[in-house]
Amino acid sequence: MRRISVFGATGSIGQNTLDLILRAPDEFDVVALTGAQNIKQLAQDAKALKADIAVTSDPARLTDLRDALAGSGIEAAAGDNALIEAAARPADWIMSAIVGAAGLAPGLEALKHGTTLALANKESLVTAGPLLLGEAARHGATVLPVDSEHSAVFQALIGEEMDTVERVIITASGGAFRDHPLDALEAVTVAEASSHPNWDMGQRITIDSASMFNKAMELIETKEFFGVSPDKIEAIIHPESLIHAMVGFNDGAIMAHVGPHDMRHAIGFALNWPKRRSLPVERLDLAKIGQLNFRAPDFARYPALKIAQTVMEEGGLTGAVFNAAKEQALDDFIAGRCGFTDMARKVDACVDAMLSREGLQNATITLDSVQEADAAARALTADITGTAKG
Ligand code: NAD
Ligand code: MG
Repeated sequence: MRRISVFGATGSIGQNTLDLILRAPDEFDVVALTGAQNIKQLAQDAKALKADIAVTSDPARLTDLRDALAGSGIEAAAGDNALIEAAARPADWIMSAIVGAAGLAPGLEALKHGTTLALANKESLVTAGPLLLGEAARHGATVLPVDSEHSAVFQALIGEEMDTVERVIITASGGAFRDHPLDALEAVTVAEASSHPNWDMGQRITIDSASMFNKAMELIETKEFFGVSPDKIEAIIHPESLIHAMVGFNDGAIMAHVGPHDMRHAIGFALNWPKRRSLPVERLDLAKIGQLNFRAPDFARYPALKIAQTVMEEGGLTGAVFNAAKEQALDDFIAGRCGFTDMARKVDACVDAMLSREGLQNATITLDSVQEADAAARALTADITGTAKG
């Protein structure tokens, strides 16, 4: 039996992970499940999977969680420290699917105990890639990518030498507004930005797909995870989202990973790694699909991609600043404090300002320095007013 924990179990990635686990319940011994606000779901899943402990990040919800688990024998805990303690519990494999910067500390803790970390939480790599991978190396722990693009790159690289890689091409659907008139982008609503043409995901990542802040994060993730230099990393719009990523080699070959729009592929690959096993995902009918299209991304429509280039080149804590600024700008957009196109303006201004006044590039990356840069960037971004107040 493999001991596994799912952090962010109540979210989109978490629920897909539980779906796979529930299909083979005899193979897994579930240690910890964690969530935030959705106590009903968390308790229900903890009971269905016979977890040892359920943790909510919100201390105000502990009583609700205890009540919901009463009589089940499952422990209940709450708060950031409880999350870290749960990550320290012996496990063979942990899914890191908390959304946002809050995912970093539990992931680091799991690595300290040598646990294999299936990493959906892209913020961990963007804010603290060298810290996370350094910790993994120090403790002989494995990190497996779960973001579909990075799972695709990982799979395309199996058996290959990194020094033969000429380019890594990350595909992007283009999000909700890929064909929206450019001058009408300022006025789009939160509801419009929350609907994705191809993937069914959490609201935050869906809006980040429309603005391509998600793709910007993924370019940075690619640099951090695979150690590829920024000039070898490209984004391309591929509206069908069936090719998740491609790797170009020094003999001109391009290996593309093609698969359905179903995160259970990337999750299942990480769950079963190093083996491949049958997964309950659609088998593509290529003749029916007929064609795959590609177009170059337009920086005017997607300024986030340009900011990503700066972040990759500057390195250090620039990623932590970028991620925090982007999370704050997204909060501001969702709360109606700024318009859609203001998000990139705010993030750009924050990254620029922090790069000019602090030694971000050469700063040592620790949990503390990341959290400090994060707080400073959030405060600064919140103060930058947008022009297209929505
Ligand atoms: P989601 O919003 O659906 O779920 C987030 C989970 O994190 C929930 O369980 C929630 O309870 C928990 N959470 C929220 N705030 C928390 C906090 N402060 N402390 C602890 N837990 C907290 O998000 P999601 O779409 O499942 O994405 C999870 C992560 O995976 C993100 O980093 C996202 O970028 C990444 N990712 C998601 C997808 C996808 O298809 N959804 C694809 C690739 C990568
Ligand atoms: Mg992705």
